[in-house]
Amino acid sequence: MTDAHLHPWLGSAPGWPLVLYFHHVHPTLDHYTSLTPDSFARGVETVLKTVGPALAPPDVSTDPASRPEQPTVLFTFDDGYRDTIEHALPVLDAFGVRALFFLITDRVPEVGGARAVDDPWQAYLGWDDARHLERAGHRIGAHTRNHVKLTEVDAETRRREVDGSIEAVSAARHRTGPVPFAYPYGLVPADPGLPAGTAGFGTVKAPARPWSADPARIRRTYLPTNADDDWAALCRGWRDQWWASSR
Ligand SMILES: [Zn+2]
Repeated sequence: MTDAHLHPWLGSAPGWPLVLYFHHVHPTLDHYTSLTPDSFARGVETVLKTVGPALAPPDVSTDPASRPEQPTVLFTFDDGYRDTIEHALPVLDAFGVRALFFLITDRVPEVGGARAVDDPWQAYLGWDDARHLERAGHRIGAHTRNHVKLTEVDAETRRREVDGSIEAVSAARHRTGPVPFAYPYGLVPADPGLPAGTAGFGTVKAPARPWSADPARIRRTYLPTNADDDWAALCRGWRDQWWASSR
């Protein structure tokens, strides 16, 4: 087996939504997980124009009957950094995109903007921000309580981290139904232990399989930072892969 699937060119299984993950959107943070607001806007525009329309998070379903008839894209954000509210949200709004935000629930303050935090790695959106996102049609999901490597902790810790974060998100959104979950570092345990019906999102470490075949290991891919010139070709590849087999 090769590690070809670790490359971002591999999108989704044919017929299933393309899922992209982002972390920071920040004007000055220089890191491979961060895009500038301008770059992010260009990325969203390229993806929507080349791959297809954004999938609304409420429409996320691992049921084959609910698959869209054309390529669609689900935008997701990991870790709940506050810069996503400040710099990504205006772009999403401008393009009419609803996104899914995965929160590290023990790091979420009650009120996100209550204290000024200059360090983008320490500034997390609050439960007030999360509720605002939900009211605006976006969705929040769980990303453990403390961003632990779920493959490296004992079963009891794993259960506490997964269940605790799902319960916290569930309480904040005032809705029923499964809470989407994303694995820190894309590390999926042999037995993820997610509640039935939960969509579990990995990273490029996850193979591109039909969601219905393995709902706890959904592949996501990304737009590489500082490689904006490659994005259009990446998007064409993702679109072509979607149509790759007769449905
Ligand atoms: Zn993370």
